[in-house]
Amino acid sequence: MRLDQATPEQLRQWETELAAQYQAILDQKLNLDLTRGKPSAEQLSLSDALDGILAGDYKAADGTDTRNYGGLDGIKEARELGAQVLGLDAANVMAGGNSSLTMMFQAAMTGYQFGFNGVESAWKNIDGAKFLCPVPGYDRHYTVCEQLGIEMVTVPMTATGPDMDQVEAMIKADQSIIGMWCVPKYSNPTGVVYSEDTVARIAALGKIANPAFRVFWDNAYAVHDLMSNPPQLANIMEACVAAGTEDSVLQFASTSKITHAGAGVAFLGGSANNLNAFRKVLGTTTIGPDKINQLRHMKLLPNMDALSAHMQKHADIINPRFEAVLSKLDAAFADSDLGAWEKPAGGYFISFDTQPNCAQAVVKLAADAGVKLTPAGATFPYGKDPEDRNIRLAPTVPSVADVNAAMDVFEVCVKLASVRTKLAS
Ligand code: PMP
Repeated sequence: MRLDQATPEQLRQWETELAAQYQAILDQKLNLDLTRGKPSAEQLSLSDALDGILAGDYKAADGTDTRNYGGLDGIKEARELGAQVLGLDAANVMAGGNSSLTMMFQAAMTGYQFGFNGVESAWKNIDGAKFLCPVPGYDRHYTVCEQLGIEMVTVPMTATGPDMDQVEAMIKADQSIIGMWCVPKYSNPTGVVYSEDTVARIAALGKIANPAFRVFWDNAYAVHDLMSNPPQLANIMEACVAAGTEDSVLQFASTSKITHAGAGVAFLGGSANNLNAFRKVLGTTTIGPDKINQLRHMKLLPNMDALSAHMQKHADIINPRFEAVLSKLDAAFADSDLGAWEKPAGGYFISFDTQPNCAQAVVKLAADAGVKLTPAGATFPYGKDPEDRNIRLAPTVPSVADVNAAMDVFEVCVKLASVRTKLAS
């Protein structure tokens, strides 16, 4: 089906046929869900050995009794694992509580209220303080900015990461840009892995930006490969050292989509200066993290080999679901002008771009037919996709059969919304 070559009669005929197909779907009274990127129960079960794994031995490697207060930075072995995930020295990593998003908010609070270089550098003192947001991106990053009243400016994603020509030009022109969100590996939702050149250029931003500028490098999918020989992400801290900009990047990761989501361990990595500023704020809110949970995690995943073997089991579970989505998209749209998507090599999402002005209609049609999709616009700041095109598909939770059923509905909804939008234009 190609809309660019269709005559009005053809469009009307397609509309009639598709409306009949859609009605048949409505009659099935489906209840399917491709919304949030959560692990499936099968994936969560891979880590059930966490429960009881300490068998009464609460001592960390250095003899720390993890049952007691203290140790703001987290236990050494957890920091070491976080350091390997983030490509840093353990001295530059803190192991925290159950959520990297919490650490991102705490870091943003540190920058906003207290400043990473003393209170005079606090973002609250900068008129019109702004964050750059590569789009489409992760909605909860936008919520952090909204909560703090930080304006968001969008920059398009490309196949190699954010459009760096635009990023550099914007930062040169506007010293009130004090931050940038990045999901550098298997970006949420596009699945893009930033190229080496992009990583080097992001590391160099600290040379042209306001000294208060910080990149929030959210490496949530650092080890979430779906293929063998996965793409390699260049080391941002090495690039920063080469550029002399070590203070310009804060790195985040967590075990949320490795072990039990919501009951894992989060990591923050950065320069000594940044970590010291963060500690001051963190130490006001807690005496220390849940070290027992950190120790449990280190017993289950003592090193990178164990972590990789564990992630392979995740990939074995997730892969058929991704393949189901991708083969349905291929069959439905490969020869059409109705949508564009990429095949991700890892992560949790497939990002689908409809024709302009169709995404909201697709999501509504699907919802009315009992297939929940992430709200259109959620992948843009303020929930506004200016072209109304992007839809994030998250296939990890439903069974393969349900993914296939949901994608059959998706196909009809995309076609129907596209034809109707074209007819109305
Ligand atoms: N960052 C990204 C890019 C994510 O997709 C997610 C989970 N959807 C998170 C952070 C949340 O991580 P955590 O559970 O560690 O807060």
